[in-house]
Amino acid sequence: MEAPAVGPKRVGVLALQGDFEAHAKMLSSLGAEPREVRVPADLAGIDALVIPGGESTVMTLGIEREGLAEPLRALVDRGTPVLGTCAGMIMLDRDHLDVLDIATRRNAFGRQLRSFEADLDVKGIGGGPLHAVFIRAPWVAERGPGVEVLADVDGHPVAVRQGNVLAVSFHPELSGETRLHRLLLEANGRA
Ligand code: GLN
Repeated sequence: MEAPAVGPKRVGVLALQGDFEAHAKMLSSLGAEPREVRVPADLAGIDALVIPGGESTVMTLGIEREGLAEPLRALVDRGTPVLGTCAGMIMLDRDHLDVLDIATRRNAFGRQLRSFEADLDVKGIGGGPLHAVFIRAPWVAERGPGVEVLADVDGHPVAVRQGNVLAVSFHPELSGETRLHRLLLEANGRA
């Protein structure tokens, strides 16, 4: 692969709560420079952002407490590539940061299916199905016309994209699945 022209990409990982360390580790393994984001100043100079899984209620409180909502929205508006996983997808939706034109349903797969794994074909991702780990996962219940569905489970969207924002219901970082993180690193600002 060609070496990047300007050194490793600095990728912010929202680190208020949840499994941010697994994302940081995966980003490092791909040659990127992860940076934990806890306060607005941590967003300065980052090339991309990951919002990890965790508990969306707790994450929402953290974002409010630290005054991160506006800076995060501004970052998305500037075209910075963003990947949200599981609770991260919820944080991006209409009812939270409102940067992705979707409504999510929390814990959508029901109590018996709190946690499951599936091999998913994801539009735009080559190399065969992607191994996805779902943990009390949401699905996309409603979406606007600008939102493209990349994958679904039983007709429920679990991977979507709108411009520079990519959101998935599952945890790629827990199954060693690097292709979505690679996609984030390959994305270059505004498409
Ligand atoms: N159930 C969590 C929520 O609604 C999300 C779970 C996860 O991120 N693995 O916030």
